[in-house]
Amino acid sequence: MQTDGQLVVVALGGNAIQKPGEKGTATEQRANIMGACRHLASLINKGYRLVLTHGNGPQVGSILLQNEASKDQVPAMPLDICGAQSQGFIGYMFQQSLRAAMAEHGLDLPVATVVTQTLVSTDDPDFSDPSKPIGPFYSEEEALVLAREKGFVVKEDAGRGWRRVVPSPDPLGIAERDAIRQLVDAGVVVIASGGGGIPVIEEEDGTLCGIEAVIDKDLAGERLAQDVGADGLMILTDVPRVAINFGAPDERALDRMTLAEAERYAAAGHFRAGSMKPKVLAGMRFVQSRADRWSVIAGLQSAEEAVDGRAGTRIVAG
Ligand code: ADP
Ligand code: MG
Repeated sequence: MQTDGQLVVVALGGNAIQKPGEKGTATEQRANIMGACRHLASLINKGYRLVLTHGNGPQVGSILLQNEASKDQVPAMPLDICGAQSQGFIGYMFQQSLRAAMAEHGLDLPVATVVTQTLVSTDDPDFSDPSKPIGPFYSEEEALVLAREKGFVVKEDAGRGWRRVVPSPDPLGIAERDAIRQLVDAGVVVIASGGGGIPVIEEEDGTLCGIEAVIDKDLAGERLAQDVGADGLMILTDVPRVAINFGAPDERALDRMTLAEAERYAAAGHFRAGSMKPKVLAGMRFVQSRADRWSVIAGLQSAEEAVDGRAGTRIVAG
C-alpha cells in the first residue's frame, strides 16, 4: 500500500528507550519505546517506508553489570554476545510497540528485527588507542586486576572511577545486508543494526568472528541506509537541532548546513566526539553519496515536522 513512498532509515537515540534519571525498568523502557513508535507510525501513515536502528548503550551496560554480578553462578558472556542480547530485547519491544502504534492508524505492516553483525577492520586506528568506556565502574585495584587477568584496557573516566575501554572502529559493511534488503523490498518494516551492530571481523576463510569493540550507531545507520538504498537518513536525538558554539553564550542552532559548512564546523570542533560528531559525519557521508539524498538531525518529538523540512538540521549538498 505504502510502497511508493520514500525509504527512510531512522536512527533513534538513547532517549527513545531510556530517559535521563530513569533506572531503566522494563515499564520505563516500554513506555519510552511506545512514545517513539507513535512518531514512527505517523511517518508510516504519511506514506514513508521505514527502516529503524537504535542505540543500546545503557542496555548493554546493564547486561554487562548483570554478568559481572552473577559471574560466580553463571558464566559471564563476552561483549559481542551481550550486544546480540540487547538487540534481541530492544527489537522485541519495538516490534510490539510499533504494531500497536500502527494499529492506532489502522495500519498493519509486518515488522521484524534482524540481529545484525557489522564488519570492521582491526587496522582501524581506534584499535591502537581504544576510546569508548563501557560497563561498570571499578576501583583502580579492581581495574588493574582485570587488565592483568583478562587483558582489558582500562582507563580512569573523568574522576568517576575506572572503566574498561574498547575500540570504536568505523563500520565497513553489514553482514546481513542481503537479508535486510530482501525484507525491506518485501515491505517489512525492519529493525536492524541495533547499537551499531555486533562488531565482527572476517577471517581469511570468510568466517565471521565477534570482537570486543562497539560501533557508533549513527555511522552504522548510515551504512544501513546505503545498503538498503534509502532516500533519507533521519537521526532522532534529544536536542532539536545541531548547534555551533554548543553550550556557549553565543550558541546558534542551525536549520541547515551545506557539506562544506559541516566540514568546516567539524574541523573547528563544534561537534563533540561520540555524540554530535558521528551524527553530522553520518549525515555528510549519506548526502555526499548521491545528490538526491537527504539527511536530517532532529529531536524525536519533532520527527513528523523534520521529515518535511520544518524542524531539525538538514544537511544539504550545496
Ligand atoms: P543519542 O543517544 O541520540 O545518540 P548523544 O548523547 O550521543 O545522543 O548525542 C546527542 C547530544 O549531543 C546532545 O544531547 C548534546 O548534548 C550533544 N552535542 C554535542 N555537540 C553538539 C552540538 N554542536 N549541537 C547540538 N548538540 C550537541
Ligand atoms: Mg549517541
